[in-house]
Amino acid sequence: MIKVLDSFVADKIAAGEVIERPVSAVKELVENSIDAGASSIIVEIRGGGKNYIRVTDDGCGIPPEEAETAFLRHATSKISTVTDLDNITSLGFRGEALASISAVSRLTMVTRTADSAMGIKLVLHGGRLVSSERTGSNTGTTVIAEDLFYNTPARRKFMKSDAREASAIIELIQQLAVYYSDIRFMMINNGQTLFTTSGSGDVLEAVHALYPEFRNTNLIPIEGTGVYGFVSDPGYTRTNRKGQLFFVNGRIVSSSVIEKGLIDGYNGRIFSGYPCAILFIDQDPGDIDVNIHPGKREIKFLKQDDVIRNISQSVSLAVNTDAGVPRSILNREELPDQNKSETPVEVTEQTSIREFLSNLNNDTDSQENSEPPTIPKILNINSETDKKGNVYDIKAETEEVFSVAEEKKEPYAVKPFEFEELKLKGYVFDTYIIMQSKDSLYIFDQHAAHERIFYERFMQGYNSTEHVPQPVLTAFTLNVSADVYCAERDWLDDMRNFGYDIEDFGEKTFIVRGIPAYMNAEEAESFARSYIEAASEERGHNRTVIDKLIMRSCKSAVKARDKLSELEINELMRSLSKCDNPYSCPHGRPTFIKLTEYDIERSFRRK
Ligand code: ADP
Ligand code: MG
Repeated sequence: MIKVLDSFVADKIAAGEVIERPVSAVKELVENSIDAGASSIIVEIRGGGKNYIRVTDDGCGIPPEEAETAFLRHATSKISTVTDLDNITSLGFRGEALASISAVSRLTMVTRTADSAMGIKLVLHGGRLVSSERTGSNTGTTVIAEDLFYNTPARRKFMKSDAREASAIIELIQQLAVYYSDIRFMMINNGQTLFTTSGSGDVLEAVHALYPEFRNTNLIPIEGTGVYGFVSDPGYTRTNRKGQLFFVNGRIVSSSVIEKGLIDGYNGRIFSGYPCAILFIDQDPGDIDVNIHPGKREIKFLKQDDVIRNISQSVSLAVNTDAGVPRSILNREELPDQNKSETPVEVTEQTSIREFLSNLNNDTDSQENSEPPTIPKILNINSETDKKGNVYDIKAETEEVFSVAEEKKEPYAVKPFEFEELKLKGYVFDTYIIMQSKDSLYIFDQHAAHERIFYERFMQGYNSTEHVPQPVLTAFTLNVSADVYCAERDWLDDMRNFGYDIEDFGEKTFIVRGIPAYMNAEEAESFARSYIEAASEERGHNRTVIDKLIMRSCKSAVKARDKLSELEINELMRSLSKCDNPYSCPHGRPTFIKLTEYDIERSFRRK
């Protein structure tokens, strides 16, 4: 028998679509707080948000006579006409969140606007109004949702362990706190304050307060068309993408397009792992499709190539500077406190939150219902919540907490790298060239530098039409195996493009009478041998293959422990400075690293 569902059943079904998990309820509530112009938002959860969610803000509040209306489906103050739909500036507008959350929980709301003397407190169970009374309250709104899905057991079953649900909520608030760095966020889990941000509007300050591991990262600001943010220097990578936060029009997203733009920007300077990046990308809403994976973070760009180019250009501008030269690894551990006299206590404790969160990702289903590990208390604040929903003194709470997390700004050291300013100071182990410029020492690896120079010259040679081999005094021959001799000789053309004068000499032999101008005979010979060998193993013959072959062969052309004269060192530096990418060898290892006076002083415990 077909019948129309009564409105409570219908509401519960609809609610399940909007509110799938505790984190979706938290997201809706926090977005409402942001829309309400809050400058401070407190999120408190218990039992992964299944038992208890509280979101308190100091936003505009709801006038008492409208408070009940807010819980009706499609009740919103954010749009009223169809044309408004095209000009949405708020995060919410469908008017469904409060209706949905209240339909599946026991909900209490206390709210007061600045111009009403008293606030109002509403209690709803399963969407039905239980009580409504006037009450004293701060300006702003507190919503408490308890016993989520208590009346929809099927939905309750779909929830994961408390720890997992908590982790999803904490991650969301961390991300929002980075994006809305001008709002003070405070996160309380099972009675313990996990973090607070200052709300100063300084993105880096928020990032450091939320992700302690970023303290060890040299984050370089970037800015370009439709993109700004911070990226790590190429010497610092992580083994996963956890250090990458991408926001598109304010929403945290994952996107292989953004990842590509980022990596391209490093121009081969990443040796292994993933760089850290916090990127804010603005796109015309018409140029993105957020709906390809409903509920997922994946985003689709309609102008992919533009996005990649804009990101990679701005990243490359930022990392091809002095700030982008990797700092000596020994001192990297000591980098964080550059501007602080001592390590603050909360660093280590916050690190354990991070560990707690990353452990969660490894936890298995057998641990589904295990208790979450206790999280160390960072700040001793009074997070007592009045379960009866009386007065919420946001001010007292926030001031006490937020004054503690003050942190100094890091200076942004962005200037183009000046090879001309380098002065030769030494040469050690027949390998490392020591240069100085103002307050930094730079240590160049002659082999990495050589590889980079050769690699770029070979690529240039391959791509250009002019090839003038340098005659050698004594021609040398290259013997190859029969199969190589009889196989296709694509590599022979490559060699000529590189600047070799090479010919078939019969009897499985080739003769070389001229070599590329920028190599000595020994280097040219070992490059040639290695290239032929590599080329005969490699199938196909396109740019990528040749690129790979050159990379491999350059390595063998560079002799280990080859002592350079001062003249040769200067020549090497000049050639390196002219490279497109002087910062890393073709394999992504740095060609030089930096040791600042500060790093040295720290090593001597002078600072
Ligand atoms: P929407 O956000 O889509 O408008 P909601 O159900 O989330 O719908 O909220 C309904 C209305 O209640 C909002 O339009 C807003 O006027 C009011 N409201 C909800 N939360 C808050 C808050 N924290 N502060 C002020 N007003 C709020
Ligand atoms: Mg909303």
